[in-house]
Parts: sequence; structure tokens; C-alpha cells
Amino acid sequence: MTVREVHSPDEKARVCDAIMRALPNWFGNEEAIVGYVREVRDLPFFAAYSDDISDCSIAIGFAALKCHNEYTAEVCVMGVLQPYHKQGAGKLLIERCAAAEVGFVAMKSLAGGLISDSALAYAFANVYDNVLPIWGIQKMSELQEFLSYQDAAPVLDDARRAQIARDRRELAGEFCRSCGYCLPCPVDIDIPTCARMALMLRRAPTQMWLDEVNRDKMARILDCTHCNHCADHCPYGLDTPALLQRNYEDYQTFL
Ligand code: SF4
Ligand code: SF4
Repeated sequence: MTVREVHSPDEKARVCDAIMRALPNWFGNEEAIVGYVREVRDLPFFAAYSDDISDCSIAIGFAALKCHNEYTAEVCVMGVLQPYHKQGAGKLLIERCAAAEVGFVAMKSLAGGLISDSALAYAFANVYDNVLPIWGIQKMSELQEFLSYQDAAPVLDDARRAQIARDRRELAGEFCRSCGYCLPCPVDIDIPTCARMALMLRRAPTQMWLDEVNRDKMARILDCTHCNHCADHCPYGLDTPALLQRNYEDYQTFL
């Protein structure tokens, strides 16, 4: 796989348009597509090409950057064709950035509360010179923990690597990322909360998920009509109605 900068505004627009339209679960809004295609014409633009496609004009992914000043930029829009997900396009982009001494702000380093060991998260992120994490802390105790790491940084040792491997096994696959792309649900089920309740019950303080508000949210799963709108729009390919049902049954065991 190779990544090349694209300079022609027409080519940028063509690549952006083709890839966004091939990813309807991520980019299903016509107005947004047209807006992005117009916007990328004037932005720094990189396209990824696969070695297994002989026509070297067919890109399998792209990223357009918005430069705020001499030092900071953000990814305005990016996409990779689904068959090429998890094939190294993102890693390649990060390696290119590292080689050019470009760093990243990494969001959600505690995965919205699913990663409960702050020392583990710190040790993992601290290995990467070009990553600046935004921890997304929820509690004062977490703030104090992260401040203490400035003086005594946790090390990524074998025990922590083993814990990361366990977390990967537990969180990979049928793991709702709480992105909300599946919404709205016609019967108003709070899918991003309910579809990961089993994980939250075990990885965050349990009691807060058992209050009346969350009980009501979980009870609403019984109203599911199995219309499949959520599954059809989940970019991670989850069988969302089945996942909700499993979370509902698991929740009952805590009441
Ligand atoms: S399948 Fe159920 S949870 Fe999903 S959108 Fe339809 S009613 Fe909501
Ligand atoms: S079910 Fe899928 S689309 Fe919905 S919040 Fe979870 S990961 Fe996102």
C-alpha cells in the first residue's frame, strides 16, 4: 500500500466523492457529501493506493487536512473502502506523519469509561512520542492520578501488556463504540448506552448504572420492533437488536 499527496482539485473531489459514496453507513447524507467534495478541493489531500489494484488511479482511501496554523491541523474528512479496513492504511498514515515529525492528539484514551485503569492507559499512550492524549476524565480521582504520573510515569511492562491483551479480547468484536450512527431509533431506545451496558456494569462503578433512569432506558429494549434500522446503519457491522437483547438479559441479573 502507498500513500501519495494529490494536488489536482478535480482529482481530490473525484476520490473523495467515490469513496464517500461507497461508504453509505458512514456517509449517508447527500448534503454532507456534496459539502465535503466541494471543501476538499482546496485542502491538503492524501490518497492511499493498494498494491493489488493494477489501475494506479483507483484510490482505496483518502484523508483531507485542515491546517489551522503553522503548528496544528485536523483531519477534516477521511474514508477507507470497507474491504481495506484493518489492512494498515491508518498505520501507514501515522508512520508517514511520525517520519515528518507530525504528532497527534488522541481522543477518548479511557474509551468513555470502559478503560478503568488510568495507569494502564497512560503507560500505553506514553510509548508513542508523537501522541498527545486527551484523557476524557470523569472523576477528580482520575485527575489526581494523571497528575501524579507527571512525576512517576507508569511503565508499559509485561503485566500491563497482558492486561491490554485481555482488554482487547474483551472489547473487540461485538463492542458498541457508542458512536450513535444507528440513531434515531423509532421507539427511542438509547442504543449507545444500552448496547454496551454489560461492559459499563463491569468496567465502571456498577451502582450508577442501576438507577431509575438507566432501568427505564433498559426496559425500553422490550419495545424493540426489530425494524433493523440500527443494524443497517452500524458501521461496525453489529447485530444491534441481538446485542441489545443480550444486554437486557445481562442487566436483569444485576437487579
Ligand atoms: S431494531 Fe429495535 S433498537 Fe434497532 S432501531 Fe429498530 S426498534 Fe430501535
Ligand atoms: S450499535 Fe453500532 S452504530 Fe450504534 S452506537 Fe453502537 S457502534 Fe455505534
